[in-house]
Amino acid sequence: MDMTSPPPARHLCTDCGISRTDDPKRCGRACQFIKPDYPALETRAHGRARDPARPDELFFGPFQRMVRARLAPSRAGAQWTGITTRIGERLLETGAVDAVLTMAPHPEDHWRPLPVLITHAEDMASVRGMRMGYAPLLSLLEPARAAGHKRLAVIGIPCQVYALRALERELGFERLYVIGTPCSDNTTTENFHTFLGLLSAAPETITYLEFRADYHVELRFTDGSRQEIPFLQLPISQLPPDFFPLTCRTCVDYTNVLADITVGYMAGQGEQWLLVRNARGEELVRLLGDELVTAPLGSAGKRQGAVKGFLANTRLAAGGLPLRRMPPLLRRVVGWLMPRIGPRGLEFARTRVEMKAVETVLHLRRAEKPRMKSMIPAHVWKLVEPYGLEPEVGEIRKK
Ligand SMILES: Cc1cc2nc3c(=O)[nH]c(=O)nc-3n(C[C@H](O)[C@H](O)[C@H](O)COP(=O)(O)OP(=O)(O)OC[C@H]3O[C@@H](n4cnc5c(N)ncnc54)[C@H](O)[C@@H]3O)c2cc1C
Ligand code: SF4
Ligand code: SF4
Repeated sequence: MDMTSPPPARHLCTDCGISRTDDPKRCGRACQFIKPDYPALETRAHGRARDPARPDELFFGPFQRMVRARLAPSRAGAQWTGITTRIGERLLETGAVDAVLTMAPHPEDHWRPLPVLITHAEDMASVRGMRMGYAPLLSLLEPARAAGHKRLAVIGIPCQVYALRALERELGFERLYVIGTPCSDNTTTENFHTFLGLLSAAPETITYLEFRADYHVELRFTDGSRQEIPFLQLPISQLPPDFFPLTCRTCVDYTNVLADITVGYMAGQGEQWLLVRNARGEELVRLLGDELVTAPLGSAGKRQGAVKGFLANTRLAAGGLPLRRMPPLLRRVVGWLMPRIGPRGLEFARTRVEMKAVETVLHLRRAEKPRMKSMIPAHVWKLVEPYGLEPEVGEIRKK
């Protein structure tokens, strides 16, 4: 099927590509938005499900170790330092895989993701950086197999990786490496262009955007200049209430718990954050050798106040975007204070995961109540429990 044509109609769908394969009915078994079974897939991928008794697994899923990390030297054009694409390069250089399935920038719009199969290490440089939006990554699984690729690496966001893991055993690859990035607050590329238009009078000159863990958005421009905007100064109130699709407001896996390794930044305090989840993830880290510089993760501040405030604002917004209402001067003061006294490092990552869980419950309760019992895994209810959010009648699965 042509990747540019609309996907077959599905109710909650981020067009991961499965509906475009030879057997589109597999969506029923593969979809994160239908009836996900995280404990079963975690056990299949990592040998065990997340263990809430181990520090931080309730938040981030099963892992063997987590570190703060950077690639030295960092790679030009990468979103952070380029760990993700370097892993792909090394897999191809060493012959561990025949191809890497990932997202390239679309030739007509560098913000639009375009699924590609990369077979030469030197071509990995062309996919560095972040695109906004989603595109049918997994529609290239069948073409990959047809091309004779037996060992494959996939770089994907959580909703893509869920479907990949759900179907892994029937895909017929000899070996599969899964490199995941966290993902949240994604939206269509079209919506993202609207946002860029509010940030700059010349949005076409923006080459880079990141929501950093120090509560600033960083923008880079074609002339090499940079701009940092405190979160509180973002033009959120000018965005339409449905700016973020319901899928991305309610998806239940921020940190890509089914990947062999998750490469993010949230807990990295200015550097990257690696979660090595299983032996295959360790193998991927080893491929980087001395190029990977690691350090222990830090944690500071307290998240509870921030999460409670977010919950109250999300309730008030009643389906729109949660806004912090405050006068401009106070807004500037709080914007200055947040990176200094707000949650930082691991505590920042826990904050974001809890906020996401709060959103899942509140938005589904408002928009898709009958689906809550099949869509919300038990760990999400545990995450929101400290904030007084409990399942109402009919919202959890009967055992
Ligand atoms: C929509 C989105 C939201 C994200 N939100 C967070 C977050 O909240 N917290 C966090 O810690 N990390 C988040 N990330 C991940 C983060 O932006 C970095 O991608 C990650 O830290 C890896 O950096 P890097 O320098 O190693 O990546 P690079 O070496 O630059 O490689 C980036 C890889 O991501 C792939 N990619 C780019 N855009 C997309 C896309 N739209 N869909 C699928 N794959 C894509 C590229 O093909 C490439 O393989 C998000 C990523 C995306 C795409
Ligand atoms: S499995 Fe993928 S294509 Fe199918 S409904 Fe879910 S997100 Fe959409
Ligand atoms: S926010 Fe969730 S549903 Fe949306 S693209 Fe990212 S992983 Fe998929």
